[in-house]
Amino acid sequence: MKLILLGAPGAGKGTQAEVICNALNIPAISTGNLLREAVKNGTALGMEAKTYMDGGKLVPDEIVINILKERLAQDDCQAGFILDGFPRTVPQAETLSQMGVEIDKVLDIEVPDEKIMQRLSGRRVCEGCGASYHLDYKPSKVEGVCDKCGAKTVQRKDDHPDTIKERLQVYHAQTEPLKDYYQQTGKLVVVEGQEEVAETSALTLKALEA
Ligand code: AMP
Repeated sequence: MKLILLGAPGAGKGTQAEVICNALNIPAISTGNLLREAVKNGTALGMEAKTYMDGGKLVPDEIVINILKERLAQDDCQAGFILDGFPRTVPQAETLSQMGVEIDKVLDIEVPDEKIMQRLSGRRVCEGCGASYHLDYKPSKVEGVCDKCGAKTVQRKDDHPDTIKERLQVYHAQTEPLKDYYQQTGKLVVVEGQEEVAETSALTLKALEA
């Protein structure tokens, strides 16, 4: 099954991607994570992407598309995958279609902007394994230390309040039109994000059956 997860930054796409990954045994591919890895490794592409990411802007389509193509060519993607954070623009969606990738379903996770601000400003991520926490809703057992691998948890640079506002603006202007785009193909299913992660996860799994 080939799936896309749409939704604002902080809507919980990463968590739901993990839920689907476990349920269907297909890899979750986050272009944000792929880009952060390139930044961490100090590649030329990573360095170019970094300035956009730190400012809450979208990385140019060409860079993201190249990084995604490389990932989709790997063996584990042949039976299907979940895209988390791609496409983020209509041209990216068109490129995916031109690449011959046939998407089965697009899950759109809806969360109001005020809730997103709350969620992202309290988010902490592990520097080592990328696990995600929240100061209020999902704290690590020891503050600042990852439960899973023991590395340090930090605030992402783009989770600072001004950058979150910018990311939300970018989302509404450039990514939200994808809802119409996929609605027209009959593949869009809306999942209303809930307070409790487990409740959202149940709705996600139900949406896969729809
Ligand atoms: P994310 O982890 O999905 O929130 O992505 C973090 C940042 O990576 C975004 O704010 C963008 O700067 C960049 N990014 C991730 N995916 C894309 C994409 N599909 N197109 C453009 N930029 C992206």
